Amino acid sequence: MFSTHVTKDISAYCHGELSNAESKQFAEHIIACAKCRAKFEEVKLGVKLAEQLPQLSAPDHLWRELEPLLDGEVQTVRRAYDLSWQLRAAAAVALVLFASLGVWLIYSNRTNQLLANKRAWRVKRVDGTPTVGTERISKDGELAVGEWLETDANSRAQIDVSSIGNVDIDENTRVRLLETRPTEHRLELARGKMSARIWAPPRLFFVNTPSAVAADLGCAYTLEVDDHGSSVLHVTSGWVALELENRESFVPAGAACETQPSLGPGTPYFEDCAAGFKDALKKVDFDPDAAARSAALNAMLVQARPRDTLTLWHLLARVDGTDRALVYDTMAVLSPPPPGVTREGVLTLDQKMLDAWRDSLETMWMGFGKGVPKPIAETYWKLKNGLSRRLKDMMPK
Ligand SMILES: [Zn+2]
Repeated sequence: MFSTHVTKDISAYCHGELSNAESKQFAEHIIACAKCRAKFEEVKLGVKLAEQLPQLSAPDHLWRELEPLLDGEVQTVRRAYDLSWQLRAAAAVALVLFASLGVWLIYSNRTNQLLANKRAWRVKRVDGTPTVGTERISKDGELAVGEWLETDANSRAQIDVSSIGNVDIDENTRVRLLETRPTEHRLELARGKMSARIWAPPRLFFVNTPSAVAADLGCAYTLEVDDHGSSVLHVTSGWVALELENRESFVPAGAACETQPSLGPGTPYFEDCAAGFKDALKKVDFDPDAAARSAALNAMLVQARPRDTLTLWHLLARVDGTDRALVYDTMAVLSPPPPGVTREGVLTLDQKMLDAWRDSLETMWMGFGKGVPKPIAETYWKLKNGLSRRLKDMMPK
């Protein structure tokens, strides 16, 4: 099926050297081909490390090279001190010129690197006159790293996310481009609503919101942030991970997840669940009163269907005591745990057992999502628990 693997292009892709068409072809292959994807994750990790090295070590490196030369120049200046003031001035000027040249070389090198990586995204006006930075755009514009794009009640825009997808920006929305590199693209959604369609290997596109970070796992989704910093995520294809500190929610196609600034990601749920199930879950996630949370949990569990184990599995680690036991017992009836996974192990949150149970449920969860590339479904958790976890640790918070 995969006659032409793309392993030879991985380095070029990670350095932004492929054309848009080539990048798209590359990403499509990576999503479908486990072999190339594994190689890609390795190279991406290496490139990310390399990208961070120059920023940390450049000053030392610069000084190691410049110091002996500067020492020489200082000696020249000292000797010149005995000569006439013109000679001294000439030596000082030479020193300044020399140092400037060094600094200029370093900076121009860095600038070239930045330009080569195309540190801006194309913005298309859809309605009204959106603002990019301080400029109102009436047609097309560019959103550079650090710049805000803002729409009012009458304007909308569309952004090309490098060559890996696009994002629709609805009315009354404020977004900022935080980073764009072949190994990481990151937006900040401060307020309003955006819809993203991303065609790229997992964990390349991130959206920071006030209450969680949305990590794309090859997908399409809508993300909305209100004035209090709470957000709602709806996933229409693929998977999205919502993360804040140690709390993570994995949201497949057909599911949604709410987040609140004080708590981070809530628990994901399938959107076709019973209305009472969803209302009760909101209390379980966000009600400050423990008794109210327990009561809501009971109300939720009696309405759970087998596919709602998506919600229950996430809840296992989020509730404790008798509540956790109740969640386990309900899950065990809806979809019994695989061999080797015991009640005792799950109640003590044995990670291996939790993972094994999730793996056995995942096919059912994914089976309900439309248009999910099957290889992603099969390898998603492996990626999550493997290299991508290490990558995540390196992501700026
Ligand atoms: Zn391949």
